Amino acid sequence: MKTTVLGHPRIGEKRELKKAIESYWKNKISEKDLLKIASTIKKKNWLNQKEIGIDIISSNDFSFYDQVLDMSLTFNCIPKRFKKLKDNVSFVDLYFAMARGVQKDNFDIVALEMTKWFDTNYHYLVPEFEKEQKFELNSCKIINEYREALDLGINTKPVLIGPLTYLLIGKEKENGFNRLDLLNRLLPVYAQLIKELENEGVTYIQFDEPYLSLDLTDKEQKSYLKAYTFLKEKFPNIKFILANYFGNLKDNLNLTLSLPVDVLHVDLVRGLDELDIILKHQKEEQILSLGIVNGRNIWKNNFNISTKIINKAKVTKGNNIWISSSCSLLHCPYDLTNEKKGSIPKEVIQWLAFSKQKLQEIVLLKKITQGNLQGSDIKEIEANKLAFINKEKSTLIHNHKVKNRVNSLTKPDSLRNNVFLERQKKQKEELQLPLFPTTTIGSFPQTKEVRSLRLKYKNKQLSEETYNSFLEKEITSAIKFQENIGLDVLVHGEFERNDMVEYFGERLAGFAFSNFGWVQSYGTRCVKPPILFGDVSRENPMTVKWTQYAQSLSKKHVKGMLTGPVTILQWSFVRDDQPRAQTCNQIALAIRDEVADLEKAGIKIIQIDEPAIREGLPLRKDNWTTYLSWAVNAFKISASVVKDTTQIHTHMCYSEFNDIIANISDMDADVITIETSRSEMELLDAFVDFKYPNEIGPGVYDIHSPRVPNINEIEHLLIKATKLLPEENIWVNPDCGLKTRDWPETILALKNMVTSAKLMRKKVLSTIQ
Ligand code: GLN
Ligand code: ZN
Repeated sequence: MKTTVLGHPRIGEKRELKKAIESYWKNKISEKDLLKIASTIKKKNWLNQKEIGIDIISSNDFSFYDQVLDMSLTFNCIPKRFKKLKDNVSFVDLYFAMARGVQKDNFDIVALEMTKWFDTNYHYLVPEFEKEQKFELNSCKIINEYREALDLGINTKPVLIGPLTYLLIGKEKENGFNRLDLLNRLLPVYAQLIKELENEGVTYIQFDEPYLSLDLTDKEQKSYLKAYTFLKEKFPNIKFILANYFGNLKDNLNLTLSLPVDVLHVDLVRGLDELDIILKHQKEEQILSLGIVNGRNIWKNNFNISTKIINKAKVTKGNNIWISSSCSLLHCPYDLTNEKKGSIPKEVIQWLAFSKQKLQEIVLLKKITQGNLQGSDIKEIEANKLAFINKEKSTLIHNHKVKNRVNSLTKPDSLRNNVFLERQKKQKEELQLPLFPTTTIGSFPQTKEVRSLRLKYKNKQLSEETYNSFLEKEITSAIKFQENIGLDVLVHGEFERNDMVEYFGERLAGFAFSNFGWVQSYGTRCVKPPILFGDVSRENPMTVKWTQYAQSLSKKHVKGMLTGPVTILQWSFVRDDQPRAQTCNQIALAIRDEVADLEKAGIKIIQIDEPAIREGLPLRKDNWTTYLSWAVNAFKISASVVKDTTQIHTHMCYSEFNDIIANISDMDADVITIETSRSEMELLDAFVDFKYPNEIGPGVYDIHSPRVPNINEIEHLLIKATKLLPEENIWVNPDCGLKTRDWPETILALKNMVTSAKLMRKKVLSTIQ
């Protein structure tokens, strides 16, 4: 029996890597310094695992930006547009250019596309393939890392993205071929790489194939068999670890069991239902790696349950098992001990485990099931038991009022009083907005001053009084600005909010916040998700004061601005002791109360942002309906408390609506604002084809770039929109919040936007007359 993990976090305990890379980008440190810092992080990670007692430790789980980009460079899979740059800059700079794009010295090259890594919040850089794609073994990163660890006396297992997952998560950049057809060209390069690793003395190689957690076509399944048969035949002496994670194997189970590999890793957090059948049919000599400690949450493992599972596997497999994390620990923060003096309540800390603690859990689980425990182990096991016992009873977690309220929800709670068309009539009368009403998505530029004052206030270096009067000043000038340029529906600007989820989490019971609980989102960007540990309730209004203040400054409508329940859930570390749907309903009720209070305070338009609804979709389509039904319902619970005359908006900032348009329509928001500007309104097609009945604000310019759109181009987009949608349903707005922009470009862009809307109104009027 051995212990292992699929990968270790790599950003450094205090985000050292992030800081080093960003300094390198600003030319503050040299490439040599950067490599040195990276090397220190890697060493620390390896020695940490060794010290804790992990038997089989990974290498090549480190990355300067992204492990998929690393593979692309290893195979020299570099899009043509970078070829010229390649001859002019160092390897490291080419690497960062592919990750971020370049715009200097006559170069203007866009980066590789970035997208979510399965259903995590980690983003990878999408490999680009052309029809005549060639692959060549290029970088020696994998070898170097193996050697680096070997120098410390650690014989690691290099981690590679398996050939099928690598191809399947990529994209064809030309028509006329399927990327799977490139497998024949790719496999020899894998073979070459494995050969080199064999020459170095490698024993195990881990092939990550999380694509096995998705529905595969026949051709894809066959390609799996082909690839692993080809590679294993060539390297009978290398031990192949095939790692599936993020789901169970389902229709790919037989295929997976038939692959000629030495170790099969399965995700028992999401695939426990398949353990029995795997134990029954797995080849006797094949090792089973049990992914039993959840690699993507922060909760303690329940030893009581896990030992039972391991012991069961032992009956069939004997010592031919490994104990492991379900997936790489990349998705989990470093070390809980850093939080001892932090802001997480002590009672909550005892239920948590970050990466370092998860490594210890894995080692302890091995000891428990092998029966060789020492004194300190027994104390740990007792603490584990105790934690789970008091978790069940803790009044910090369990609030019976909240539970009862969720249990007594009924259908009418998620329904507005009347259907949209009736509400629309009443709202038009009540709100008296012009045709093509103009608005923004909520936040205004978060200047250095705003951020620094907010931080000072948080650190108690600024009195509440001073801070509040600063916010009043910011809101007042934002309202004045919006009135001056002629926007129709105003916002207060969200200056008091650091983050759209954290702000609400901080004001709701059931959430805790770590100080160092960072996880990599992409490249050097890290996020610190709130910890949703208990029943959620709202004690006091969260946004009413500032919204009401803003409204008091203007006769125009000020839009209340809330984050929706699904987004709050999606962007937090969520408790695993009850179904997510139930937790989501608790949040929905808290937001519902806020909506009711805003309405009571005289706010007539309320926006409930749900940018994360889509990313919560399960990996397998089979499970979509269940998820969508509770997610949509949670939104409706939060929104349906208002009168017909109160207008509910929602906002989503992504681009694929086709497959969930019916569900978006079910949300029944009076107005939805979405991203469309980058695709020239093409994204509206889904809404048009579906005959989406409610009002829509298709984003008319891209806020992700400082570029100021001109009047004509916005008008052009609006004309396009009027050809697709009924005029009376169209809103005019940017495609997302403006917090990342600066004021100068924001002022110009919004002025142009308002002018375009006015021109459109004139046009329509003249055609009517
Ligand atoms: N209301 C939020 C803002 O304007 C929406 C942000 C988002 O869509 N991610 O910042
Ligand atoms: Zn957005």
